[in-house]
Amino acid sequence: MLRTHSSHELDRRLVGQKVTVAGWVDRRRDHGGLIFIDVRDRAGLVQVVFNPELSPDCHKLAGDLRSEFVVQVTGAVSRRPPGTENRKLATGEIEILAESLTILNTSETPPFYINEDVEVDENLRLKYRYLDMRRPRVRDNIMLRHRVVRFIRDYFDELGFVEVETPVLGKSTPEGARDYLVPSRMQPGKFYALPQSPQQMKQLLMVGGLEKYYQIAKCFRDEDTRADRQPEFTQLDMEMSFVTEEDVMSVTEELFTRMMRQMYPTKRIVTPFPRLTYAEAMERYGSDKPDLRFGMAIGDVSGVVARSEFGVFKNALEAGGRVRGIALPGCAGYSRQELGHLTELAQSYGAKGLLSIALGECASLNELSMEQVRCVAAKYLSLEQVKEIARETGAAPGDLIVLVADTGDVTTAVLGKFRQEMGLRLKLADPDFFAFAWVLDFPLLEWNKDFGRWQATHHPFTAPLEADILLLDKEPGRTGSRAYDIVLNGYELGGGSIRIHQAWLQRKIFQVMQYSDAEIDERFGHLLEAFSYGAPPHGGIAVGIDRLAMLLSGENTIREVIPFPKNQNAADMLFNAPSAVTEEQLKELHIRLREE
Ligand code: ASP
Repeated sequence: MLRTHSSHELDRRLVGQKVTVAGWVDRRRDHGGLIFIDVRDRAGLVQVVFNPELSPDCHKLAGDLRSEFVVQVTGAVSRRPPGTENRKLATGEIEILAESLTILNTSETPPFYINEDVEVDENLRLKYRYLDMRRPRVRDNIMLRHRVVRFIRDYFDELGFVEVETPVLGKSTPEGARDYLVPSRMQPGKFYALPQSPQQMKQLLMVGGLEKYYQIAKCFRDEDTRADRQPEFTQLDMEMSFVTEEDVMSVTEELFTRMMRQMYPTKRIVTPFPRLTYAEAMERYGSDKPDLRFGMAIGDVSGVVARSEFGVFKNALEAGGRVRGIALPGCAGYSRQELGHLTELAQSYGAKGLLSIALGECASLNELSMEQVRCVAAKYLSLEQVKEIARETGAAPGDLIVLVADTGDVTTAVLGKFRQEMGLRLKLADPDFFAFAWVLDFPLLEWNKDFGRWQATHHPFTAPLEADILLLDKEPGRTGSRAYDIVLNGYELGGGSIRIHQAWLQRKIFQVMQYSDAEIDERFGHLLEAFSYGAPPHGGIAVGIDRLAMLLSGENTIREVIPFPKNQNAADMLFNAPSAVTEEQLKELHIRLREE
């Protein structure tokens, strides 16, 4: 090694000892005679002092150092003079008195400061990701990710799971997104698809008798890039044979419980993880991935205002809609302008309008009087109705109730997004709380209006509830599924299900989804055939590693926890990918580009 110690190994126990360190020049300060540099390595910083009296050559050479030069320094570890210690630095009690200096490499002036935590344009950061990575933020996120993945591997290994790599060149699978296609050179006109997930592969591993499988798997989905989506992402993928929902859920829950206790002992989690049905989640939180770090549940006041003459309520209810709302704690004093912003926010989510009821401060709801109620529709509401609305939405004096009157679906969609946004804006989410939960009892199928047919809510390999199999013919939409989602702080962290393992049932599901038998055989013949050779009952789950790392690190986008992410246009700024290819390459692949 070109060094004897990494910066994290240096402390006052080494005072007097000669050490060699290597790293980058983080900062250089000339203090008259003395030159100070901070040498940065992966672990952190250590201060080096060049004293012209101690080593004149070295001091002279140090004068040439610039930010990001790569250096090797040898010298004795020394205590910093009293009063010059730096408590913020792990090595802040010591410094190295340089006796020799080697410049291992020089550096151009970097396009952004590496030694300062300043906001830098993201595309610039991505273009120079290898420099961005020298900054603590990205470096720490990469290290965190490493620890998470290692924890996962140790955990599954201990439970007897086998890590299996599944292929990346495969066949298009219906995970609900667009495939990335790879043209075949050997078979003109044919394409591989990159896996949207190893779903069918892991099921085939169960047919193959592997019993317990996991993988840190790369998945590819050609979707619009968002804060929590990337064209390629990583998931913890697992599958088990001879199990029920409870088995898969308990292995998953135990993983996160142990991970949190070990890696984040000071953070709060609730165990066992709360469970909600899909219907409850939608009804109370307007989301199938509710953020349970705060309450603010949605209340239904349709019954309370049923006979109200207020046009907005009346019209919505007469049209078969609902009046629902939530309480914003402590927001009764909102100005007209602030209320206007809330309305605009609700409108951006699809509401026609928003009705607010401000409850003035008083000792308790019982003591509320109509004078303390501020609402444009006040004259249509009795005090009793206001109190009832407050009870349904969980509002207390000092709170602002907001109501949406519309179709049930619109009230759900609007209030769900509104609740999430306002919960965060009002800082109701405790940063030390990781709110895991399970969402269960999803419908097996949902109606796709655009295509006019049923599609799988999760994916078509999810088993229906045994008792509902007969519904598949009569009322497909009412068939329950054996799927489960795990949510964390308002994100879908993962999802899985008990699978179909009988060929006839799998075929039946595809038929309900209006695939012809020929299409079924073409696309899924391999799976149906596999199921005909004694497929065991099995089930599994997949958990997004990027999202998990994002939530654990407190970042807002998964790009921050991916070493080399694509930008919002799905472009790799560093390699400049995607890029044009030569005519030669296209020819080999039997491809001619269309002129559009
Ligand atoms: N294949 C599913 C997904 O990637 C997860 C699963 O059912 O295990 O979303």
